[in-house]
Amino acid sequence: MPLSIAIVGAGPAGLAVVERIARKAPQARIDVVEKLPVPYGLARYGLAPDRPLDKKLTALFVRALKAKSVAFWGNVALGREFDLADLRMLYDAVVVATGAGADRPLGVPGDQTPGVWGASAFLRWVNGDPEIAAPPPALDRVRNVIVVGQGSVALEVARLLARSPKELAKADLDPEVAATLAAMPLQAIHVIGRNDLLASRVQPADLAELKKLARAQAVVDPEALAQAEAVADDLDRDRKALLKAFAALAAVPRDESRLPIRFQFHLRPLRLDGGACVERALFTRPDRLGQNLALRAELVIAATGLERTTAYDRLHDDRGLIAPGLYAAGWAKRGATGSMEEIIADARLVAERLLKEVGATPSTRPGRAGLARLLEERGAATVSLAGWQRIDAAERAAAAKPRPRRRLRAFETLLTTAAEPARLL
Ligand SMILES: Cc1cc2nc3c(=O)[nH]c(=O)nc-3n(C[C@H](O)[C@H](O)[C@H](O)COP(=O)(O)OP(=O)(O)OC[C@H]3O[C@@H](n4cnc5c(N)ncnc54)[C@H](O)[C@@H]3O)c2cc1C
Repeated sequence: MPLSIAIVGAGPAGLAVVERIARKAPQARIDVVEKLPVPYGLARYGLAPDRPLDKKLTALFVRALKAKSVAFWGNVALGREFDLADLRMLYDAVVVATGAGADRPLGVPGDQTPGVWGASAFLRWVNGDPEIAAPPPALDRVRNVIVVGQGSVALEVARLLARSPKELAKADLDPEVAATLAAMPLQAIHVIGRNDLLASRVQPADLAELKKLARAQAVVDPEALAQAEAVADDLDRDRKALLKAFAALAAVPRDESRLPIRFQFHLRPLRLDGGACVERALFTRPDRLGQNLALRAELVIAATGLERTTAYDRLHDDRGLIAPGLYAAGWAKRGATGSMEEIIADARLVAERLLKEVGATPSTRPGRAGLARLLEERGAATVSLAGWQRIDAAERAAAAKPRPRRRLRAFETLLTTAAEPARLL
C-alpha cells in the first residue's frame, strides 16, 4: 500500500509540506484537512489587500493542491470532526500545520474596549474571513488611528488605512469594505513602537513605499531619528539600511494637506480610555519617568503578535518532530514569527525529514478511505478541491475589474457555492 500522510491546515506551511512530499514521493497519498472551506490560511486572509500574494507563492500553492496524489478536505477541523488520535490511527504520518492563535491583547486596562482590534483580526475582517463577520464598530467616526507595533504587520495596516479611495479601488478588496475604509474621516495615523527606531522589524523597501502614497505622508519622530543617527557608525548593514529608509522619509518636507502617518518610538501603552468606543490611549516613556503621552484615537489596532495556542507547538524538537510519525510545521511549530518565504523553507525541511524517517516504512494504515468513512459517519459537509475551484471561479467572476476577485464572506455561501456547479455569468 502507498504511504498515507495527513496534513492538518492548508496555509503556506501545510501546502509547502504537501508540495515537497508530492514531488519527492509521488507514490505517497496525501490528504490535506482544513478547518475553513477554502485553503491558503493567512495568505488569503492575513495579507494587506493592497499588496497581492506573490505569483510564485500562488503557483506553489496551486501545484500542491492539484498534485495527483493529493486530496483536499475543506471545512473539517482537528478538534471538531476528528482528533489527533483518529488521524494517527488512519495515517502513517501526520503533520500539524494549523498556524498560530488569535491576536495577543495589549495587556493594559481598557484593551477590550470596542474599537480596540488586533491587527490580524482587522485584516481578516478586511479580507472577508468568514470567522470574523462584523466590522469594527463606527469606522465612519474614526479620525485618529493608533497602530501599536514595530513590525511589518503594523506597517501593512498603517499603509492600507492611509490609501486613498482611488488606490483602494485597485486593491484585492470587496467594494463595500473599500467604501467603508475610504469613508473614514481620518486626520492622523499613529504608529507607536515600544522600543527605539532601530528595533523596528520592517523592510526598508516597505518604508520607501510610503513615499508613493497618494494622500498620506510619513512623519518620523525627529528625536528618535537623531538618537539612531548618533549611533549610526556602529550599526550593521541591515540597521544602517533601516536608518537610511527612516531618514529618507523624514527628509521629505511636511505637507500639512497630507494625512500624517506619525512614527513614534519608546512609548509603552498604559491604559485605553473610552465608553461605548475607545477615545484615548495613554502611553508612558520608560526612559523618562513621569512623561506620559495621551493620544486621541477612535480605533486602536494592536499589531503586537499572535498567541501560541496549539497544544503541539512546545512539544516538538527543532526540526518539527512531536512523536514518531507526528510532525509540526509553520507557525504551529515555531510560533507566530517569520514571513511566508521563511515558513515555506522551514516546512520543506520538515517534509524532507518526514520522508527520511517514514518514507521507507511499508504502509499499514487505511489512509484516505478511512478518513472518508470517518467523516461520513460524523456527518461532515466537506469541500473538495473541485468545490474550492468553484468558489475561486465564482469569486473571480463576480469581481469588478481591476479587482481580482470579490470574496464570498459567509460560511453558508461558501458551502453552497462549493457544492453547486459554477453558474455561467
Ligand atoms: C496580519 C498578518 C499579515 C501578514 N502579512 C505577511 C506578508 O505580507 N508577507 C509575508 O510573507 N508574511 C506575512 N505574514 C506572515 C504569514 O502570514 C505567515 O508566515 C504564514 O501564514 C504562516 O503559515 P502557516 O501555514 O504556519 O499558518 P496559517 O497561514 O495561519 O495557516 C494555518 C492553516 O491551518 C488552518 N487550521 C487552523 N486550525 C485548524 C484545525 N483545528 N483543523 C484544521 N485546520 C486548521 C487554518 O484555517 C489555516 O488555513 C502575515 C501574518 C499576519 C498575522
